[in-house]
Amino acid sequence: MKLLEERIRRDGIVRDGDVLKVDSFLNHQMDVALFNEMGREFERLFHGCGVNKILTIEASGIGVACVTAQYFGCPVVFAKKSKTKNLAPDVWTSKVYSFTHDRVYDIIVSRAFLGPEDRVLLLDDFLANGEALKGLIDIVDQSGAALVGAAICVEKAFQPGGDKLRSEGIRVESLARIKSMSAENGIEFC
Ligand code: 5GP
Repeated sequence: MKLLEERIRRDGIVRDGDVLKVDSFLNHQMDVALFNEMGREFERLFHGCGVNKILTIEASGIGVACVTAQYFGCPVVFAKKSKTKNLAPDVWTSKVYSFTHDRVYDIIVSRAFLGPEDRVLLLDDFLANGEALKGLIDIVDQSGAALVGAAICVEKAFQPGGDKLRSEGIRVESLARIKSMSAENGIEFC
């Protein structure tokens, strides 16, 4: 998606450790008009797939997920990062290794909000090693819901998550795919 690529090129900041900061429009301050175009594009890509629920993970995916959900006319569920050791029996749960924080989280989704009647579109801001999506897919599988695919804002295609998920037969659609990036040479898209 040209609009997103241009914005990343203009306002994205490449940090050490293969981290792209996009705080000015996606991860801290949020450009809702841009989210609106991204939501429209996600709906075009997954049109007719019967999506009736969008599943994301707190916190960064929630904003885009909400705007996107208006195009699908469906609710958003976000997996919560659990702080307690004692997990309630009425939740689906999985573990996620965080790329940006270098730690493992338990994530939970209430069983009341995900079940066999659902056709789920996963949505996240970034795809790097695929750990966040792996945890969400585990939760979808436990719940008996059908997985339609994954909608990603920014895929760092030089990291293995996207290829791995696609090779497992999961439909992954990314609005911007970064081929390479460095502070010296800038950002190159696929
Ligand atoms: P993965 O689980 O695919 O390894 O990483 C995806 C998650 O880590 C996303 O939910 C996102 O929050 C975070 N993340 C990964 N890489 C980046 C990055 O370069 N920039 C930002 N802002 N977040 C990232």
